[in-house]
Amino acid sequence: MLTVAEASERILADIKPLDVETVPLRQALGRVLAEDVSATVTMPPWSNSSMDGYALRSADITPVMSGEPVKLRVVGTIAAGQFASRPVKRGEAMRVMTGAPVPDGADSVIRKEDTDGGTDKVEVRDARDVWKNIRPAGEDFQRGDVLARRSAPIKAALIGVLASTGIAQVKVFRQPRVAIISSGDELVDLDNFDEVVEARRIVSSNSYTLDALTRIAGGIPIDLGIAADTKASLKRKLDAATEYDLILTSAGVSVGDLDHTRDVFASLGGKQKFWKVKMRPGAPLAFGMLNDVPWLGVSGNPVSAMVSFELFVRPALRKMQGHLALFRRTVTVTVDEEVKIAAKLTHFLRALVTRNQDGELVARLTGIQSSGVLTSMVKANALLIVPETSPTVPKGSRLKALMLDQSLEETSAFSL
Ligand code: AMP
Ligand code: MG
Repeated sequence: MLTVAEASERILADIKPLDVETVPLRQALGRVLAEDVSATVTMPPWSNSSMDGYALRSADITPVMSGEPVKLRVVGTIAAGQFASRPVKRGEAMRVMTGAPVPDGADSVIRKEDTDGGTDKVEVRDARDVWKNIRPAGEDFQRGDVLARRSAPIKAALIGVLASTGIAQVKVFRQPRVAIISSGDELVDLDNFDEVVEARRIVSSNSYTLDALTRIAGGIPIDLGIAADTKASLKRKLDAATEYDLILTSAGVSVGDLDHTRDVFASLGGKQKFWKVKMRPGAPLAFGMLNDVPWLGVSGNPVSAMVSFELFVRPALRKMQGHLALFRRTVTVTVDEEVKIAAKLTHFLRALVTRNQDGELVARLTGIQSSGVLTSMVKANALLIVPETSPTVPKGSRLKALMLDQSLEETSAFSL
């Protein structure tokens, strides 16, 4: 049995970033840049006013500094999008709007509020803006500057920068298409929910959770449906799965008589790399390659499937998309209750991590930790990590927790 860290390392060693595609800029959000991008233009292209006011020569308003208002001739108005037809000379001012190019000759923009607002002549009454309110050309970036490097995650601000430099189409790493196969004779999809009502079957909830987790991780889920617990059925599904970027199966990788997935995988020529990890839930994890397509076989238990996804599938999908930061962050928490684990395995317990009044992170378990109890996963925002060496963790101890979402960062109360 491998440790969690060993299993993660073994999987990621066999995962490569996918090929590159070009997408329209708006669709690049959340993707990873596949090339360095340099500025094709200078931004801003001209020095421009950061105020609505009057562009003028500071030397002309020296008397204002000693409290004496000065009157200047207004020789034009420049709105954003317009350009001055001549420079500003001694004794002159030009009205400028925010964003408008500052005319040659001017070295200050006096805000309108510090003048009488005149249109033919203007009286300047305050000199606090001397030398101010001019944003120089190239303040943001200069033509030729490297704006972003290959592997940069594309966020909203970068989309704006790419737009500013004329990039309508962006080279990004392809999103992995994940073939999701559930297996088990006890399972139905929602179109056969009447059998669930009759208490003869259960819904394949993994088909939904793994789909959702794949999307969150930036992948494209393809539901290949439910395989029956027969070799022939599993073979058909696995065969169909090899045209995708990753094969994700759930169930059938334990030691039951009908756990055929690993055998069928091998019979198709798949190379199993390892099976089983020293963890709970999710010990029966299988990893291998089928025709160069990575396969991850997670346990069927609904929580095990999700925990294995978080620890092993998500980083793999991120690596395929070109991300360098593959893993979620762990945080140190104080456990708010005594925690016991029964087996000598690293435990990942469903927990709710919150901040107490002192800003300290505190963890409480969210309920029954049986690997079939999905409702305790619903309430959790973290997995509390209990090392196999700590069978009993007293209340008040410090442990690590793997955050599963952004909930710690968000609040219902306005908090500025
Ligand atoms: P297995 O891995 O086949 O031994 O299944 C372990 C447990 O997970 C059993 O209780 C199954 O009924 C349950 N299970 C397997 N697959 C699914 C699924 N797709 N959705 C929900 N539960 C499942
Ligand atoms: Mg089964």
